[in-house]
Order: sequence, then C-alpha cells, then structure tokens
Amino acid sequence: MVELTSRILVMEAEGRASHAKALWRQGNVRREVKDPLRAVLKRMAGDRDRCMYCGDSEGTAVDHHEPMARNPLRTFDWLNHLLACEGCNSDRKGGRYPVDSDGRPLLIDPTAEDPFDHLMLSLATGEYRPLTEKGRQTIEVLALNRSVLVRGRVACHATVILWLRQWPEAVVGRGFYRPAELVEQIRWQPFADVCQSILRQVELPGAAVIFSREPDVIDILRDAGVRRLLLG
Ligand SMILES: [Zn+2]
Repeated sequence: MVELTSRILVMEAEGRASHAKALWRQGNVRREVKDPLRAVLKRMAGDRDRCMYCGDSEGTAVDHHEPMARNPLRTFDWLNHLLACEGCNSDRKGGRYPVDSDGRPLLIDPTAEDPFDHLMLSLATGEYRPLTEKGRQTIEVLALNRSVLVRGRVACHATVILWLRQWPEAVVGRGFYRPAELVEQIRWQPFADVCQSILRQVELPGAAVIFSREPDVIDILRDAGVRRLLLG
C-alpha cells in the first residue's frame, strides 16, 4: 500500500483522484491488496462480518472513510479502510464527508474515536440521539435511524436481556446453558453496539430509570465477570 500511495503522490495534484480510483479498481490490485485487506477487516469485525457503521448487515465492501475523491493519498491508507455493507457504503455514505468551517471532519471515525462520545442510544426506542454536531451529522449521513436499524436494535435489546436473565442459574450450574454459551449467544447478535451501550448505561446514575422495565438485570450487568466477558 505504501508503494501504491507513492505512485499516486508523483502525479500532478489534479490528476490524483482519478488515478487513485483507477488503481483501486485494477485487477491485480484487487487480488493482491483489496482481497487480503477485506479478509483482515472481516477478522476484526467479529464472527459475523457485521458492517462497521450499522452493525446489522454483512460487510462486503471496503469503505474509504475519507473518500478517495477528497483525499486520494488515503486510498491505500490502512486507517482509512472500514468493512461496510452496501446499504451504508453505496446507498448512504457514498462520497459524503461533512466538515466544519475549519475543515475538520464531522463524521465519526471509529478507528480513532469512541462513537459513544458523540451518540447516545435510546434503549427504549432503538434510536440514536446526537450528543455533538459530529454525532448529528453521522446519524444523518449514514441514516443510522433508518427503520430497519431502529427495529433491529429494539429486538436485539430484548434478546440480550433474555439471555442475561439466564446468567444467575448458569453460574451455579442449574441452568439449561453454561455461562460460556450465554456469552457466545450474546456476542453472536448483530448490533454489537446495543450490548455495549447497555453495559455503559447500567453504570449511569439514572440506571434505575433506564432499566425500570427490567430491574432484575441491573446487578447481572454490574457483575465483574459478566462485564469482563462482554466488554472485551
Ligand atoms: Zn451498514
């Protein structure tokens, strides 16, 4: 990738974007760079190859977080590559990359930032609410509140709670499942962000209100063993 970047760098500035796109689509580059790159990203995305933006669909595309047209020198930058589904990559994000008046990006970069610094998930409705302008723009560009995602998060929340309720019996050997099986079931769910958000929100001062419909899981979610297994 360093060698390919140097081939873009020697071009005149105005020709770099088209040259970068052509290189990215070249057959030998696909075989020798893109395919291995996608394989590494899939390993990092967990067992089910979920999209790194929505966490729902299978990630099949290598997305350029900062688009090639805007910064062709990042076409082969490892930190600019994310595994994404077609719904997020082609249908929503495309070449969009909002910036503020100083040119700083207004799209959350999950390789460098914690999305929860900019987004709050409402566990009751499945919708993301912005905490910052960057969060607002990210929700808008990626359509993070599209109905299929919102409904999926609500269903995932309910499923995670059902599995967690089996925990007290599992740890004393009286349940139908062993603890490791429960953890595997939870980790196998799409929308990994829902479980991570649940684990964070149970530590907030208002946890009793947030979990008012399932107060029995609060102590389970605060259990050090559960947190070590699910936060990792
Ligand atoms: Zn997606």
